[in-house]
Amino acid sequence: MAEVFNWQINRSMTYPYEEARPQRQAAAVFDTNKCIGCQTCTMACKTCWTSGHGQEYMLWNNVETKPWGSYPLAWDVRELQLLGPQSWDGGTYTGQTIFEAAPQGERNVAWKPTEMDYAYPNRGEDETNVSLTGKRYHLKFPHDMWFFYLPRICNHCTYPACLQACPRQSIYKRPEDGIVLVDEERCRGYRVCFEACPYKKIFYNHTTKVSEKCVMCFPAVEQGIQPRCMRNCIGKIRSFGYLSRPEEAREDNPIDFLVHVRKVGKPLYPQFGLEPNVYYIPPIHVSSNAFLTMLFGPGTRGAIEAYRAAMHGEDRELLAALLLAVSTDRIITRFELVGDRVDAWAENGDQVVSMPLRVPTVERAPFDPELDVYRYNFT
Ligand code: SF4
Ligand code: SF4
Repeated sequence: MAEVFNWQINRSMTYPYEEARPQRQAAAVFDTNKCIGCQTCTMACKTCWTSGHGQEYMLWNNVETKPWGSYPLAWDVRELQLLGPQSWDGGTYTGQTIFEAAPQGERNVAWKPTEMDYAYPNRGEDETNVSLTGKRYHLKFPHDMWFFYLPRICNHCTYPACLQACPRQSIYKRPEDGIVLVDEERCRGYRVCFEACPYKKIFYNHTTKVSEKCVMCFPAVEQGIQPRCMRNCIGKIRSFGYLSRPEEAREDNPIDFLVHVRKVGKPLYPQFGLEPNVYYIPPIHVSSNAFLTMLFGPGTRGAIEAYRAAMHGEDRELLAALLLAVSTDRIITRFELVGDRVDAWAENGDQVVSMPLRVPTVERAPFDPELDVYRYNFT
């Protein structure tokens, strides 16, 4: 076992391989406040990558409703139960990661879903944190009752549990961009990766007898184009790009800015210890700090306050970075706030975005004498 540093838990931890960070890490930030649960991302991925035989049950991208939704069934509750008590001292995780809590002779805390666990991917959809029965909620809001949508793909982890579990070294992390892939020629379908991934984002194909997972749309990414589920996001919740290590963060890189500078993007279950590379802006309407801290780690409240400040116009730079989400198909590597506009550039220097922070409001007179028509003003 090697000692590696995991900045998300602010300490070293044990992992079977030495720390080998890629030249740069492909990463995404999802804004849960904007997700409408439309599943367009789910279908964008499904129709592109998993419409073949043996892939019927697979959703490399899924959107589940928290607190009750899950795919596969209760994936996180089961993992959290197996992991045991989790505690934080400020920003440092003082509990055990899934590697450190591994039973004797095992490599990490793991469990294997059954076929039926994948049968109802929308179970718990739109169910709130409390029951609406009785007189408790007779028009009495806000804001004790809540739910929110959690879109999920493979996290292309810095310390992938799938990779370390594979006895044939069939899973690898690309040095050029940190994307985690399965070499299907090498894979013999032992399914230990499927058991090991705590996020349950690697799947077994019963027809081809090999494991498959989200490929971060690498053919597009190699051309400077964002992954399909990101480009098709109707709610424009998804920012995609490259994340630096905290000590190398660049203020003009939107992903660095959201994760390291303003710290509004938080990892999902950082206590697992995988250093996942998909980040979430926590939902601002959820009243339970304990629940959000369990999901996104400490600092969640600070992220919510920073996000609120941007929405109230008190942090225009953050607002600018947030507005870039799904504003172009190209991968943005640099942005700048110029007056009331945000400009952004792709890696080759092309300017790919220039837009106002606020769309101007135009008020029209109800009657247009030139055309002799009445117009409604609300379209
Ligand atoms: S989320 Fe799971 S499948 Fe994806 S890299 Fe991490 S451990 Fe592997
Ligand atoms: S990045 Fe590509 S492969 Fe991965 S979930 Fe999104 S659409 Fe599917």
